Amino acid sequence: MNPEILMEEAMRFGASDARVIRAADIPVEDAIVEMCGPPGCDGYGKSANCPPFAMTPEEARIWISRFDRAVFFKIDVEPELLFSPAQFKPFEDIFGIVSRLEHRAMEWGWKDVTGLGAGSCKPVFCPDAPCAALADGGKCRFPDLARPSMEAIGINVFKLAESVGWPIYHITRDTDPMEISSALLAGIVIVGARPPRAEGIR
Ligand code: SF4
Repeated sequence: MNPEILMEEAMRFGASDARVIRAADIPVEDAIVEMCGPPGCDGYGKSANCPPFAMTPEEARIWISRFDRAVFFKIDVEPELLFSPAQFKPFEDIFGIVSRLEHRAMEWGWKDVTGLGAGSCKPVFCPDAPCAALADGGKCRFPDLARPSMEAIGINVFKLAESVGWPIYHITRDTDPMEISSALLAGIVIVGARPPRAEGIR
């Protein structure tokens, strides 16, 4: 079964564009995770899905090597939205697409399926409560939706976006949204090497 059908599903679930890439081409770099630390991201250390609790880049490289292909997708976002009170809505949309795509891949017979989102799950799903998964014996409140971001395990999303021809701009708290022409958020669902034959489905 060809992962191209998952690319079509990503678009159907709301992605602006999607590509199938080789898992071996996913760039994982230690320096990316270093950017999550203070003063980089407010989610650092506050969620089980964020550094220093997420998988390390070294672990991620080994983990990704088990997979074969990935569906890398983006949603285009108005830059102003990322500086508005609704700034976390597009991040929630990415987690939603990842979750639906994971389910669809499993439904279609892939056994090894894992998704990664954009940004920290903490401000999206648990803005006013401590991370439940970090408590002793605790579990995530949103296991079906919350995932580590690609950056949290060291994936260089800029490099990956550029490799598939998507223009991407570095946006920080100091960025003037009027000065950039476009913004995107990206997610990924990685699938294993040998999807079993699944008769009767697409
Ligand atoms: S409990 Fe909340 S903050 Fe913790 S991993 Fe789950 S969604 Fe993220």
